Amino acid sequence: MFVCGQTVYDDAHLGHAKNYIDFDIIARWLRHEGYKLTYVQNITDVEDKIIARAEERNIPAEGLAKLYEKRFLEDMEVLGVKQDIDMYPRTHDYIKEIAMQTQLLLDKGYAYLSDGDVYYDVDKFKDYTKLSGMKLGELTRHRIEAEEGKKKQYDFIIWKAAKPGEPNWKIKVTYKGKEIELDGRPGWHIEDTATTNAIFGPQYDIHGGATELIFPHHTNEIALAEAAFGKKPFVKYWLHTGVLNIKGQKMSKSLHNFITIRDALKKYDPEAIRFMVASSRYRSPMEYSDMLMKSAASKLNFLYASFGIFYNMKEVKEANTDSEALEIANKLEKDFSVAMNNDFDTPLSLSALWDAITKLRKLAEANKSIGKEAKSVAISKVLEFAKIFGIMEHDWYKEPISEEALEQIHAREELRKEKKFKEADEIRAELSKKGIALEDTEYGPVWYFEKRLKKSN
Ligand SMILES: [Zn+2]
Repeated sequence: MFVCGQTVYDDAHLGHAKNYIDFDIIARWLRHEGYKLTYVQNITDVEDKIIARAEERNIPAEGLAKLYEKRFLEDMEVLGVKQDIDMYPRTHDYIKEIAMQTQLLLDKGYAYLSDGDVYYDVDKFKDYTKLSGMKLGELTRHRIEAEEGKKKQYDFIIWKAAKPGEPNWKIKVTYKGKEIELDGRPGWHIEDTATTNAIFGPQYDIHGGATELIFPHHTNEIALAEAAFGKKPFVKYWLHTGVLNIKGQKMSKSLHNFITIRDALKKYDPEAIRFMVASSRYRSPMEYSDMLMKSAASKLNFLYASFGIFYNMKEVKEANTDSEALEIANKLEKDFSVAMNNDFDTPLSLSALWDAITKLRKLAEANKSIGKEAKSVAISKVLEFAKIFGIMEHDWYKEPISEEALEQIHAREELRKEKKFKEADEIRAELSKKGIALEDTEYGPVWYFEKRLKKSN
């Protein structure tokens, strides 16, 4: 699997987090299902935006790219994404491969030279619009700049002559029988296909990226790869993730409406971000709001607290709840798998996990006891599936809450039912002194140890 990675010219934001967490969950699930997955995500470290930003700051483009690459990888590590990626190839390490592919395209007549630039001749590739389903005539309505030197407006750049001060490489190509030296840098689209051809060969299974990359980026990738290397289709499955919107608009650098991952992590645990992402289907757009983020954090608190109650349930030799607990674990496995195998339906698989944990909690709260074996099976099933989302990895659920505190929580609930709010609040204050926080959610009261989830308040 190859996923279009970050162009490293600034800090990554929550829109990027959604995209990479979506693919991380997909990768984890494929591996869980026994597929031998190699997951490659590139880092674009030679690109117009990097050059422009470096010029603004009056520093070398290479230095800027290195700085933001480092910060990006730190973010991905905290979000639990980096560990699942086998390889992060960088543009500047694949210049030789890009030159080779450029030569193949020139030889086969799919590319032409124009004043030090190399362009792709879109009219020569007859399946150009097969991914997007657009008509060739419609393409000009998209943001394609008519550049000097192009035969057609929708032709795109493969190799760009460098201006003074820009990162540049010298490559030799043969064009119309003459050897020519080109001094410049690769265009964006060819980087991915030259890289994946070097790593996977001319055909591989899954290519992922955000929906907005269907055209022109992935459309151009198909044209570049299939024309140069001759294998069709060069990708068997395309997976596209929906964008993250904020107040109805796409979260993006250019619209200045973004929240960086770093800022979000100051307030929220990385697991809360992963929970939020998993609560919507990867293909669907997601509408971000502080409410959504807070609600994800509070639901996660609820899962930790509920799982903690089951985790600390009394164990006995002869228990009458074993079959019930095992049934809950089996149902979790079945429902989770059915949902994930239906185009990675994470909202449904997340609700299977939710169901299992809340049912296990109820077993414990019914003052029943459980056998050691059944309990351990149920615990390991919950953790196995929570791991697909990358949640429940803290050991917060292990510390038991005291009987006394539990009784107080129940007593407070009864008082609230009787609308004795003043007395209920007194209990809440007492619990707070013991470090136990209470939150009233639509699922009932959630307690948690304040010191742990402080960030999610
Ligand atoms: Zn890409």
